[in-house]
Amino acid sequence: MSEVKLPEIKTPLPGPRARKILERDQAILSTSYVRPYPFVPAKGEGVWLEDVDGNRFLDLMAGIAVNTTGYNHPRVVKAVSEQAARFQHLCFSDFSSEPQVSLAERLNRLAGGGFRVYFGNSGTEAVEAAIKVVRYHTHRPYILAFTGAFHGRTLGSLALTSSNSKYRKGFAPLLPGVVHVPYPHPYRPPFGAKPEDAGKVVLDYIEHLFKTKLPPEEVGAIFFEPVQGEGGYIVPPAGFFGKLSELARRYGILMVADEVQSGSGRTGRFLASEYENLNPDIVLLAKGMGTGYPISAVLFKEELSSWPPGAHGTTFGGNPVAAAAAMATLDLLEEGLMENAARVGQRLMDGLRSLQTDFPRLGDVRGRGLMIGLDFVKDPETREEDAELRDRVGEAAFQKGLLTLPAGPSTLRLSPPLILSEAEADLAVGLIEEVLKGL
Ligand code: PLP
Repeated sequence: MSEVKLPEIKTPLPGPRARKILERDQAILSTSYVRPYPFVPAKGEGVWLEDVDGNRFLDLMAGIAVNTTGYNHPRVVKAVSEQAARFQHLCFSDFSSEPQVSLAERLNRLAGGGFRVYFGNSGTEAVEAAIKVVRYHTHRPYILAFTGAFHGRTLGSLALTSSNSKYRKGFAPLLPGVVHVPYPHPYRPPFGAKPEDAGKVVLDYIEHLFKTKLPPEEVGAIFFEPVQGEGGYIVPPAGFFGKLSELARRYGILMVADEVQSGSGRTGRFLASEYENLNPDIVLLAKGMGTGYPISAVLFKEELSSWPPGAHGTTFGGNPVAAAAAMATLDLLEEGLMENAARVGQRLMDGLRSLQTDFPRLGDVRGRGLMIGLDFVKDPETREEDAELRDRVGEAAFQKGLLTLPAGPSTLRLSPPLILSEAEADLAVGLIEEVLKGL
């Protein structure tokens, strides 16, 4: 299918086979599952996905920023098959083995060195483990996080998540001691500030909190997304997190970079934190790291590693097959995929920005590498969020054979596999232009 140049929609969507599966899905699966549109995959190749009715889609969402190397990269398939043929599990919390040790060494090198590594299965588990590292090491009761943040949905990480109250509704009380401050959104700055002051007003607010309400000596960590994901693919102002890190260090507060979505090469560098030369105390990875296999990693600085054997662990975390998938993914990232994400991402972003002249209600196009958000507004002057328009664009894109996902109040997010080619990026721009013209 890699020679195929265009999406192909042969049936009304959903097609008859997809419809049947979705009916069964509705009858048996947890009602908590979201189905933003009725896509049921059958197989994938590269950045293309075919549904069970034979409709072909260009994938610009990668299973929410996961399938770094596409759907069936031969190097990943080989690594996984070979490891599966050797052994598939032995509980890494109890027994060491080579694939995971190599992976930990590699992650430490890629993240700049000086870390120890803990493996989990998912992003939220990485966040939970990081909360425990912070608690164990600092004995401090408070954590700072940002509004709009998404850190997961287990009860600890959920206390940090604040992108949408639907995630919290019905689950209180959550982990106590979490204080949220606004994310410095340059397009919609907090406190009515000018865009150029978006970072400053947040820093001032944090200092104000430290003086009036939140003793900084009792704050263990600041959890942050270097590019906010679920909140709307928001790139913070240059220098913001550097200044915040300085403030944090003054009080012995740990900086925890949640790179679950922005890491693993998605922004064109291994970590999005690298754009600001941040040196976080703890780095969290999941999603794209295993190109679809469930694996996450907590990288925490050597000096934070004071907890004893048994203080934390899990049966499946660091599964060797998932570790093999991650090693193959990291090989490919270092062999050119990160560079591809930077180059093709810039081309995609430039193409999308060129659409704004004719479609001013595409108010903002922002991002880094292949983490790109399209923010739809009711009026480009007021920048009022237009969730309905965003949803109509997403639905119309789906009908044309383009898979995207919503993020935040009014953003459509594009997070394709990092193997996206320039021609595929141009195709995506053309299709989005057609969608916008058709509305
Ligand atoms: N952290 C960030 C930044 C995320 O984007 C996500 C998921 O979207 C998570 C944590 C939670 O990851 P998971 O869904 O694997 O639990």
